[in-house]
Amino acid sequence: MNEEFDFENRIVTTEFTREDGEGEASLRPHSLDEYIGQERAKENLKILLEAAKLRGDTIDHVLLYGPPGLGKTTLSAIIANEMGVNLRITSGPALEKGGDLVALLTNLSEGDVLFIDEIHRITRNTEEFLYSAMEDFAIDIFLGKGPSARSIRIDIPHFTLIGATTRAGQLSTPLRDRFGVQQRLELYTPEELAIIVKRSASILDVPIDEDGAMEIASRSRGTPRIANRLLKRVRDYAQVKGDGRITLEMAQSSLKMLEIDELGLDLTDRRMLETIIRSYDGGPVGLETLAATIGEEAITIEDVCEPYLLQIGFLARTTRGRMVTRMGYDHLGIPYHAKNDAPVGSGQISLVADVTDETEEYE
Ligand code: ADP
Repeated sequence: MNEEFDFENRIVTTEFTREDGEGEASLRPHSLDEYIGQERAKENLKILLEAAKLRGDTIDHVLLYGPPGLGKTTLSAIIANEMGVNLRITSGPALEKGGDLVALLTNLSEGDVLFIDEIHRITRNTEEFLYSAMEDFAIDIFLGKGPSARSIRIDIPHFTLIGATTRAGQLSTPLRDRFGVQQRLELYTPEELAIIVKRSASILDVPIDEDGAMEIASRSRGTPRIANRLLKRVRDYAQVKGDGRITLEMAQSSLKMLEIDELGLDLTDRRMLETIIRSYDGGPVGLETLAATIGEEAITIEDVCEPYLLQIGFLARTTRGRMVTRMGYDHLGIPYHAKNDAPVGSGQISLVADVTDETEEYE
């Protein structure tokens, strides 16, 4: 690994870390009304829940997609809560053998919600069991081998599958088509994140003012998981360096110490942009080449580092690779020189609309 780039221990990672465990259960909203933002998703789910309740039936299978930390697990727990049923949580990589899924499905109660995180990572074998389970609430089990082989069909309780993925584009079409509802979760605005920060602060019993909350929110990369994590770090700092109150100054000096800049970029982001500028004249550079230069896997760059840099328009994805935009140069304070092969609109905010992840392709 290249020592300059520490993808493993980033404070701004979107992945769940040990410190997120503190207060996790109490910080999670328990009802749709407590769930901040994602208005479009909430509206759709409200109708779905109402209709299912009126019919006295389970809700249709739901696919939630978008970057990690945006509230997919939370939303599933809320759906189970609102329907008054149990929530079973598992993940694609945990369902290696078809038998793992069969054991889970046969143990469900009528109406339960089964949440499968990272559903794009289930094996082909497991996926085949899911087809009939989702469609007919039954599974076919094959007994014996050769000419004497036969299959028996087992009925399973009616359940709702909620699949979560960061990469809906990687799901096979037959699986994707079995989800009646497909909902994309968006990055949150700083205003929405400020509400989440204030709510979490009150649950954790931390005094915070409006400006302090906004400062944490605007450095949280559109992600509630990061907002809650930064809140805890700033709280610790405020307790040691101040009187425990989170003010604008307290938030600013604490985040400065953590080397998270005013847009939420950390050293790893800045070094990656700098590498593209210094080693590849700003790009375009192919993802694999960039990965080899930084000593990180391409998939980590694509899933963890890039989405936010693309979102804020510092990076552009072109057919020939990644390019740092003029805004990226400006943020790092490096003089920009326009290039002939720059894509039309390079460096303009219009590139913000460029794909933030693979999932856009089938919307
Ligand atoms: P995901 O499953 O998408 O990775 P989670 O559901 O685990 O994300 O959410 C991460 C954290 O962010 C949770 O601890 C939760 O408290 C918080 N969170 C997510 N969405 C919201 C929201 N809309 N309002 C308040 N808090 C939220």
